Amino acid sequence: MTNKRNPTRAVAVGSIAIGGGHPIVVQSMCATKTADVEATAAQAEALARAGAGVVRIAVDTRRDAQALATIRERTQANLSVDLQENYRVAADVAPFVDKIRYNPGHLFHHESERPWQDKVAWLADVARQHDCAIRVGVNCGSVDPAKLDEHGPADSDRAMLQSALEHCEVLDSLGFERYCVSLKDSDPARVLEVNRRFAEQRPDVPLHLGVTEAGMPPEGIRKTCRALVPLLHEGIGDTLRVSLTVPNDRKHEEIEAGRQIVADAAAGRLPSGDDGPEGLNIISCPSCSRVQNEAFVDLAVQVREATRYAARYPLTIAVMGCRVNGPGETDDADLGLWCGPSFVNLKRGGHLIGRFPYDEILTRLKAELDAIIADRGLS
Ligand code: SF4
Repeated sequence: MTNKRNPTRAVAVGSIAIGGGHPIVVQSMCATKTADVEATAAQAEALARAGAGVVRIAVDTRRDAQALATIRERTQANLSVDLQENYRVAADVAPFVDKIRYNPGHLFHHESERPWQDKVAWLADVARQHDCAIRVGVNCGSVDPAKLDEHGPADSDRAMLQSALEHCEVLDSLGFERYCVSLKDSDPARVLEVNRRFAEQRPDVPLHLGVTEAGMPPEGIRKTCRALVPLLHEGIGDTLRVSLTVPNDRKHEEIEAGRQIVADAAAGRLPSGDDGPEGLNIISCPSCSRVQNEAFVDLAVQVREATRYAARYPLTIAVMGCRVNGPGETDDADLGLWCGPSFVNLKRGGHLIGRFPYDEILTRLKAELDAIIADRGLS
């Protein structure tokens, strides 16, 4: 790593601090059902013991929020709540966590008539009252629709960047400085670019780095390295997560991979420039409490195995665990799948083909893959 890190301000999160020259914090996220207190507390504790400085937990309902009260009693981990559409649950859960993560692209679903600026002000008040930090978590699959309209889908990097900068401005205007930002994409090149641009404009704001839906190891680790090692080497980034599609008992691998990335950046072991995806690119989410069927991780592995015969073709298949990010994250893929409770949605080139039972989806996927290969004259 260059000795010089960006001069970000320090943001306290429970017992640690992000930014301000503090050691880079490696994070992870629970993939258990949040309402399953026992399993979630055990996973949070295991991740903290493995070295996670912050453990994130998805909370969508009041039942999830109630579970957090007991989870808090059972783990020493610094906890972050992951909010999606139901931002109001922040008030119920904030007493039990150290950080609130909200996604600007998800502040439009509830109370659509209320300006997002009011919602951010409300979240900042909740955070203040309960001694919490905030992360503004911008994600390529759910960018603020107004920003996408302004910049067009072809320039979603700019839309992501402008969305993050606007939220910083609003938080600044409220006098709330205890926040960090993340700008995640499933394409490492775009993560590199958009984080560089953000850091140039707001070198004071701590950045949480990550490649979203990086997928299964070892490919998922390689993708994450391609973006995060150069950024950290340039002094950009104060905390990170390596999002891997692995079963619950292997979640600690996210921490091990994260530590290796920090070590590689410090030692100047930069990924080679020709390390990009050449053939079939499979992106898959790391799963979380919202996953709609426990079979998701197995499905991602089966998709990889069933499509190995197409490894040389420059195509992308996205496999997602639920409807929260599934529809958006599969838009740009050649083939996209996202899980429902008893069926899997299948999309080709952004269009929904249909919903298929779990035991039929691989056959349908391969048929569509063969059709794409034939239509494009790839074989
Ligand atoms: Fe969780 Fe759904 Fe995102 Fe997968 S797609 S990580 S299940 S919210």
